[in-house]
Amino acid sequence: MSDRQYPCEFCDTEQPQVKKQVTVTRQRGGQWFIFEDVSAWVCPHCGHRYFDADVLEVMESRMQSRPMDARPVTAWAISLSEKTK
Ligand SMILES: [Zn+2]
Repeated sequence: MSDRQYPCEFCDTEQPQVKKQVTVTRQRGGQWFIFEDVSAWVCPHCGHRYFDADVLEVMESRMQSRPMDARPVTAWAISLSEKTK
């Protein structure tokens, strides 16, 4: 897989985006979903991640119902609202 030739929309770099496997967290209806080993195009300058349409479709469809092949994880959710006012 070669590098993507589009410039990043979020910074001025001329460097091409690099294909990487990343972890993506999404929330749907109060339920968090963690997707591992997701193919993404990553800007080497600012780190912004771009996803191909078919990858987004898969994540979207997997959030429609309870996944039977998922591994449960424990997480700490921390609010910083009081500290960032
Ligand atoms: Zn960038």
